[in-house]
Amino acid sequence: MRITAIETLHLAGGITVHAGPIQWLWVKIHTDDGLFGLGETYPHPASEEAVIHSRLAPRLLGQDPRRIEALWTSMFDAVSYSGWAGAEMRAISAIDTALWDLKAKSLGVPVYELLGGATRDRIRTYNTCYDHISFLDQPVRLAESLLDSGISAMKIWPFDPIAKITGGNYITPNQIEDGIRPLRLIKERFGHSIEVAMEFHGYWSLPCAIQIANACEPFQPMWLEEMLGQDNMAAYRELASATRLPLTISERLMTTWQYRELLSNGAARVVMPDVAWCGGLTQAKKIADIGAAHYLPAAPHNCGGPILHAATMHLAAAVPNLYIAESVRRHYADEYIPIVGELPKPVDGFFALPQGPGLGIGLLPEVLARPDLVRRLTPAAA
Ligand SMILES: [Mg+2]
Repeated sequence: MRITAIETLHLAGGITVHAGPIQWLWVKIHTDDGLFGLGETYPHPASEEAVIHSRLAPRLLGQDPRRIEALWTSMFDAVSYSGWAGAEMRAISAIDTALWDLKAKSLGVPVYELLGGATRDRIRTYNTCYDHISFLDQPVRLAESLLDSGISAMKIWPFDPIAKITGGNYITPNQIEDGIRPLRLIKERFGHSIEVAMEFHGYWSLPCAIQIANACEPFQPMWLEEMLGQDNMAAYRELASATRLPLTISERLMTTWQYRELLSNGAARVVMPDVAWCGGLTQAKKIADIGAAHYLPAAPHNCGGPILHAATMHLAAAVPNLYIAESVRRHYADEYIPIVGELPKPVDGFFALPQGPGLGIGLLPEVLARPDLVRRLTPAAA
């Protein structure tokens, strides 16, 4: 089997999701036996598409797509000298995911079988709350609605609006009380029946992060996520030594090399790779394994499009040290449906193992017929 063409697709009009219109970039790897693999990345299709066609396609065309590690190494070599931790690694991630989809399809098995097989019968999930019910305005109602659908863990980011005001450089005692309020109300109403992870999106200075972490402690959140930016691991060490709560960082780290630095300093208690960003399933599996070597669980980040969602479920099925997999109820129950059709919903807070062959998911014909579909194909030279 040989790769005959690399195709990228995205919807110029975007897809309206929780945060506004977003353009997921899909990549399709075509082969001479008619099979294709599908991958995805986001959020800057123009940059990622350029890397795929100009830098990566020459390393892929004519090659055997089943040699995933060799192709990953070759793609990395194509971009690493000029810097790789941006659109370059996102592009590699999309290609890598498509290669796993393709190889598993060629063997007629789900992708998780190639990652070592399932280590569980179902996948625990938490809900990232881009919900129709606002966690700022109606935190108790939102938690109740999740519990009603069987989900007993959620993630919220109530300190973000305060960081927008102060630049993350200071926080007053009143602002700390405001930020804590949704967590406090949920815990006062439901106690430990629901777990609440706190997300900070890297907006805070170190002293503010320590103040906020201390204020969160009585309410025992599941974890504190990305309180600082992702570029100074020594600062995370200092933050970790100032709080008893588990820290995690984060979907913005890429490859085993960046996670190695984080894990070797002991600051993180959960590893959180994003398959569409960290280097694909090839890297995500290794990152989870390095976590396991540090006795740390993995909680894969899954807040992009439907192909990432499927790839994340295959990873979560396979890694022995899974903590919990992220998902967004509004995505799988609503916003993904016009793109890929109906998807399984979690039952009692758990997703069933994903189906194959491959990732077990594809774009609907209606998507391919949309007038705003942007397709670019790089074929092998004749
Ligand atoms: Mg995050």
